[in-house]
Amino acid sequence: MRVDLHNHTSLCNHATGTMEEYVLRAIEEKIDVFGFSCHNPMAFDEQYRMDFKDLPFYFDEIARLKEKYKGQIEILTALEIDFLPSFAEERLFDFPLDYRIGAVHFLGDWGFDNPEFIREYARRDINDCWSEYYKATEMLAKSGKFDILAHMDLLKVFNYRPTKDLRPQIESALKAVKEANMCIEINAAGFRKQVQEQYPSEEILQIAYSLEIPICFGSDAHAVEQIGFKHSELVSLAKQVGYTKCALYRNRERELVEF
Ligand SMILES: [Zn+2]
Ligand SMILES: [Zn+2]
Repeated sequence: MRVDLHNHTSLCNHATGTMEEYVLRAIEEKIDVFGFSCHNPMAFDEQYRMDFKDLPFYFDEIARLKEKYKGQIEILTALEIDFLPSFAEERLFDFPLDYRIGAVHFLGDWGFDNPEFIREYARRDINDCWSEYYKATEMLAKSGKFDILAHMDLLKVFNYRPTKDLRPQIESALKAVKEANMCIEINAAGFRKQVQEQYPSEEILQIAYSLEIPICFGSDAHAVEQIGFKHSELVSLAKQVGYTKCALYRNRERELVEF
């Protein structure tokens, strides 16, 4: 079964294509289960996300498409929710979602994956950045609010790699993921960025596998043509690590299916 749980829409102001175009492309790509997971609204970094007033349209449109394409594809409702240790939009957790993707895109108020702010890397100690990043990731898991951990090593996006071994911190974050009964995603977006590889690394996937943490797949598409991009590479990597099943969620209940 082909499952793709991480996809954006033009509502988040930095993606293109209508939601229906995404669904049609997903059907063409022979995806069986397709999840919309647009960035959550919040009173922070507003220009790259939908507003709370857009949420009813988002949910209604998913419901309409779900009905219209029933029998051809199953569509799921989700949000990619920013985890900020010092700020939370609690009302987001009241919406009925099939699953919640938790993501770390900020260290403090620095949006480290945004090319606009890339110069900040030169001003910081890269190892400190990575430590802070994995600490935030662990806190995300410990918050107990999420089902899926997004792109676990996103900080490598522009190829600023740590120069010391961070395995203890990675393991600690993954143990928190395991305790929270979450899964981690294998996300194709890195293939479209400087780093030129999936998130997370094979090393992280191997640790996750040894901890029996499930995986799911996500295109993280911000444009119609990005749906399914590099899917076969992601599948072969997952198989190489040892995985045979991937996760999907309905009403926040996880099911593992063969891929
Ligand atoms: Zn993300
Ligand atoms: Zn995303």
